[in-house]
Amino acid sequence: MNIAEIFETKKKEGKPVLSFEIFPPKKEEALKNIDATLERLCDLHPDFISITFGAGGSTADHKTVEIAKKIKSHYQVDPIVHLTCLYYTKEEISQILKQLERAGIENILALRGDRNPDSPVKQDFKYASELVSFIKSQGDFTVSGACYPETHLEAPDAVTDIRNLKKKVDAGVTHLVSQLFFDNEFFYRFYEKTRIAGIDVPIEAGIMPVTNRAQIERMVHTCGASLPPKFKRILDKYENNKEALFDAGMAYAINQIVDLIASGVDGIHVYTMNSVKVADRICSGIRSLI
Ligand code: FAD
Repeated sequence: MNIAEIFETKKKEGKPVLSFEIFPPKKEEALKNIDATLERLCDLHPDFISITFGAGGSTADHKTVEIAKKIKSHYQVDPIVHLTCLYYTKEEISQILKQLERAGIENILALRGDRNPDSPVKQDFKYASELVSFIKSQGDFTVSGACYPETHLEAPDAVTDIRNLKKKVDAGVTHLVSQLFFDNEFFYRFYEKTRIAGIDVPIEAGIMPVTNRAQIERMVHTCGASLPPKFKRILDKYENNKEALFDAGMAYAINQIVDLIASGVDGIHVYTMNSVKVADRICSGIRSLI
């Protein structure tokens, strides 16, 4: 099923969509274990699983399509392949699209990709919206995009960022996935602004369940999400107690999700970081809600 159909079906059932995000492991050893991870994640019955793609040049990028194929054919879960464009030419993107077509993969999350100061960008694409138009010109793909409840770090202001988001949707995006956030109020305010701007596609809320302090500080640094005081208190109190931080981090994420679902969110996208333990705990906390 394509992503747009999944959202329509779930809407008719009056339920939010649930999706997981995974990344292709860089280390060969971890890659060998990916089957066990996929099997257990798929057993939790997400509506789809998205697989990240490097901003450019990583050997793990080639694994994205391979993993997506496996998810679709072995586990009968719909995959969505992330695709970045800053460091790729049209010709290179075209080759990847052909691979996806051959594998019967129709869902793509079209992204610009983060800038790498050590690597010169290719000149074919400047923004994700240009990638969206290119993908739509190349085949029958269903295209999703990213959005930022706390505004993209490079955008001059929230209004400009939402105007740019509208261009991406007008180019053919039928579903948006949000950057992670720890304060639902940012998401609610952002959602309202998108509707005022005439963006009417479903928006999934990106939730990152926290399991360690260093990981969260890295993420916050690269994506600009703010940390609410009650979240900081958890990090401060339990940063040296792995088990307690896991329990508290999961409770925090479940709390966020319950509030989002109660508020009628279109979908929840869990940044699982390939952790079955995380996905399992989140799903048991919200099973009767989805
Ligand atoms: P864009 O939509 O192009 O926006 C980037 C900036 O340009 C924004 O500030 C926007 O306001 C501005 N802009 C857009 N259009 C215009 C325009 N026409 N004129 C002027 N300004 C404009 N990165 C990876 O490398 N691999 C991944 O797999 C990956 N997955 C992600 C998944 C999700 C759900 C999210 C939220 C992010 C992901 N990222 C990934 C990170 C993403 O690549 C970065 O956040 C990147 O900096 C922006 O990508 P984008 O597609 O949102 O860009």
